[in-house]
Order: sequence, then structure tokens, then C-alpha cells
Amino acid sequence: MATPLMGQMMDVPLLISSLLVHAEKYHGDAEIVSRTVEGASADNGTTINKGIHRYTYRDAAARARQLANALTRLGLGDGERAATLAWNGYRHFEAYYAISGMGSVVHTINPRLHPEQIAWIANHAEDRVLFFDLTFAPIVDGIAAHCPNVKAWIAMTDRAHMPAMKNVQPLCYEDLLAAESDAYDWPSFDEKAAACLCYTSGTTGNPKGVLYSHRSTLLHAYAAALPDGLSLSGCEVVLPVVPMFHVNAWTLPYVCAMVGAKIVFPGAALDGTSVCELFETERVTFSAGVPTVWLAVLQHLQKTGHKPTTLKRMLVGGSACPPALMQAFERDYGITLVHGWGMTEMSPLGTVGNLKQKHLSLPESEQFAVRLKQGRPPYGVDLKIVDPEGRELPRDGQTSGDLLVRGPWIIDRYFKADDSPLVDGWFPTGDVATLDADGYMQITDRSKDVIKSGGEWISSIDLENIAMAHPAVAMAAVIGIAHPKWDERPLLVVVKKPDAEVAREELLKHYEGKIAKWWTPDDVAFTDALPLGATGKVQKNKLREQFRDYTLPTA
Ligand code: ADP
Repeated sequence: MATPLMGQMMDVPLLISSLLVHAEKYHGDAEIVSRTVEGASADNGTTINKGIHRYTYRDAAARARQLANALTRLGLGDGERAATLAWNGYRHFEAYYAISGMGSVVHTINPRLHPEQIAWIANHAEDRVLFFDLTFAPIVDGIAAHCPNVKAWIAMTDRAHMPAMKNVQPLCYEDLLAAESDAYDWPSFDEKAAACLCYTSGTTGNPKGVLYSHRSTLLHAYAAALPDGLSLSGCEVVLPVVPMFHVNAWTLPYVCAMVGAKIVFPGAALDGTSVCELFETERVTFSAGVPTVWLAVLQHLQKTGHKPTTLKRMLVGGSACPPALMQAFERDYGITLVHGWGMTEMSPLGTVGNLKQKHLSLPESEQFAVRLKQGRPPYGVDLKIVDPEGRELPRDGQTSGDLLVRGPWIIDRYFKADDSPLVDGWFPTGDVATLDADGYMQITDRSKDVIKSGGEWISSIDLENIAMAHPAVAMAAVIGIAHPKWDERPLLVVVKKPDAEVAREELLKHYEGKIAKWWTPDDVAFTDALPLGATGKVQKNKLREQFRDYTLPTA
């Protein structure tokens, strides 16, 4: 190709530090409010009221610069990893910006993983520094001897709250900051440099690291902020329930700084009561979390009779949103649940379930059906579905196939992996989905959860959604059980609501007229709780293990 005529615009790299610089300059007085891990007794010189810490982007920016100075003094080098084991809070926010901003890599670790797995991940990532909230001091004490690369363990608290530990001598976060000036010039470097590292939860095999760049993070944040994305602006008050250790709290710490939204960090208190309290006291307008979190919030509201007064929208993703959940929030509380789909490998945003202009004149029930789908991709994400031979399948809203994705914030290869997971430049998601002519994607299932009955597929998500609409059902999961004739048949596993009674026959009857008859589960098993993974999703592999020897009445 002939040499193109180059554009003559500034070559300003897209760096994470620039978000904080922008936030400080253009919405420096917007608030960042955190429920502290230390509780009501905390005092580090900033305004604290009953365990609530309150400051501004301006304060956060100054403290991030102090932290960058402290980390430089500790010898954290370019591209080296500094890990966090922390809740959503202002110090975690400062660490996000200081570590990436100085050219190192922030590695968020999910503290709900088994300590052995945490140590494995810290070693694989070769973390040099590890920040931890007080809650996780026992984990750190347990793994320290197995993590020889970690040179500094930093307790994210002040001197008065330093934990007594056996196996490490932690540094005190507030002491480190107090010793430093807030004068620091964020370095400029290639926007393709690594910024953050997240490991997938690794339900099979070892966790795999996804290494985001500054560029991918910023492009992703732009897309997420758009009206057809999460539609965030400087008018919103955002409470991320989704943890900062789960795919960067779905990018909210970046988007909020970009648009100047007030942030409310819930700390360790993620139960319905605590979250609803913050919704009211901080006048939250937008929140984000997995379906299990919203189920708990709904139960709390139903029990107490409270109604949130400012909350307008909640993003729900991570697993399929049951229609009954979406309906209950809209009908009873006037809160819109926005369905989103993504994965760690996608930064995570892939699709959002917003309507188009042509849907606005449709009856509400038809709009609802569109919004229940996982949604359509923003510019930057491309989707296709393929058959087992890799041939592209029609976008007819009916045919389902393996879902593949590509785009500038989608993984190219896993951290330290030799080969790429891509197939002809596309990333296979492991999800099975349909696509329609308007670009709306609907997940049928994860390929490993889909139930294969007599050569046909049954969607476990569809069966779960119907069960969840029954008034006696608190939680439901459907798994395939080996069957001599059909290969696999569905078993519905149900957790009943407290004090609710319902029989197997009634639940099976509940499916009548809602699905093809042969999709009806062959049996119902009642249980006290479903196994939940580190990110609040039902662990189907554990459930299958639990029911390995189960014999269906039809077998
Ligand atoms: P993992 O659970 O593998 O650690 P992620 O948290 O990245 O990783 O989860 C990604 C997976 O979660 C997707 O591939 C998909 O199966 C599931 N998922 C995410 N959002 C949704 C949704 N809205 N509906 C159905 N499934 C979803």
C-alpha cells in the first residue's frame, strides 16, 4: 500500500492518569464517599462521620500523587505489579490511579478466592507490593510465607488501626502518604502499556490473567459512558456494588472520573440493609451489581416496606437477569434494571440492553422482551455466532451458536501465555447465544451449562427464569443430569423463600404453556442454598458435582 498521508493532530496518549487530572481540574469538588472498613472509629484527618469517609476528586488526586511518590520510594518499577485485596473504598480508588498512573500495573485480587489460589495468583503475577484492607489481614498472614516476590505489604488504614500480624510487618498506608509531598508529575508513555491485571475466576483449571492497557481501559470507559452504554454523566450519583476486584468494578471508577459523577463506595457492607441505607443517605441514582445482589436488595425492600427515593437505574449483569426481578423493581419501585453482558476478557463490557427509537412506540410488554435480552454492542465491540465448524450463523434471533467477539478492549492473549486463544482474530466467549437483525444478543447458556437432550439443546437460563417467577422460589438453578435415553435431562434445584411452601408438582406445572413440553425439567430438588462463586454467581460445576449420583425418576 502507498504511504498514507498522516493526520496532523496532537499525539496525546490515552493514559489512566489523565482521567484523574481531568477530574481534579473540571469537577474537583464532586464527592467520593466511602463506608470505611474501620467503621465508626476511623479518623485520618478527613471528614468522617459514623464510618463514612467523604472527600472530593481534588483530594483523591492529591493523595494519589502522594501514593505514587511513596511507591516510587519503595522501588516499584515500570510495568511491575502491585496487588490489592480490598473492598470498594477511597484508598482502593487512590491505589488504582497511583499504580497505573506511575507506569506500574494494578493487580486486583478477588479476596473471596481460596487463600491457596490467592497465593498462586500473586506468584503468577509476580506482585511486588500488596495492599490489603483490614478484613483481609488473616489471608495475608496465611499466604505471606508463600509469596516471596512481595517486598512490601501495605495495610490500607491509619496508625491507630494497624493490625497485629504474625508473619508480616505491614506498612501503614496513611503513614506512607503522610511522609510524601503531593507534588508528582504523572509520566507520559505509550498508551498500549499495561495498566491493570485481572484474573478470571477460573472455575476450571488455574485462573488466567487478563492484562488491560491504558488505551483499552480508556476506550472502554468512553464506550461505557455513552447513552446507549451505561449513560453516565456529571448528574449521576453512582454506587458500584460490583467489587473493584471484579473486572475493575465494571469500569465505574474510570467512567465516574471521566464524567464527574459522584461515587459512593459501599466498603465491606454489601447486604441489602447497608446498601439501601447508602442509596438514601447519599441520594444514589445509579448502581451496578450481579442478580444475586439485587435479589437481596429486593427482599430487604419487600420486608421493610421501604422505597428508594432517588435510585433510578441499576445495571445488572454477570449472569442472566431473571425477568421476575426486572419486573418487580420496575412495577413496585419505578427502578429500571438495565441488562448488561460481558466478561473479564472484555474489560468487561460487551452489550447493554437499551432500546432503539423504533421500540419506543411498542407496547410495554414488547419493550420489556427486548430489554430482557443481554443487549446490543456499543461501537468498539463486534459480535458473531458460529456453528461447530466455525461457519457464521444467521442473525435471525432464533438460531443459536457459539458467540465470538472482537474489538480494541478484548483480550489478545492471556498474561504469560504462549499462544493466543483467538480463532481467526475473534475471541470465543464460551457462551451460546442468538443475535437478531437489530444487533441484540441473547445468551442461551454458557456452552458448558447448556443441557443436551436427545441431540437438542435446552437453555438452563430459560428454565431458571421461569422458576424464579414463581412466588415461592428464592433461587433456582437448572443442571443437566445423565439420562440413559436422552443423554441429559434437566433437573431444577430450588431454594424456597423463607416460610414459603411449594411442591414439586406445582413447580413443574408452572412450566406449562411457557416452553416446549420436552424442555420441562424431569425433577425438582429442594436445597437450603446454592453454591455461589467468588463473584456471586451460582457455581454450576459444584452443583453438578453435588448431584452427580442423582437418579432422575424418568431414568
Ligand atoms: P468468570 O465467571 O468466567 O470468572 P466473568 O466474570 O468474566 O468470568 O464472567 C463472564 C461470563 O459471565 C460470560 O461469559 C457469561 O457466561 C456470563 N454472563 C455475564 N453477564 C451475563 C448476562 N447478562 N447474562 C448471562 N450471562 C452473563
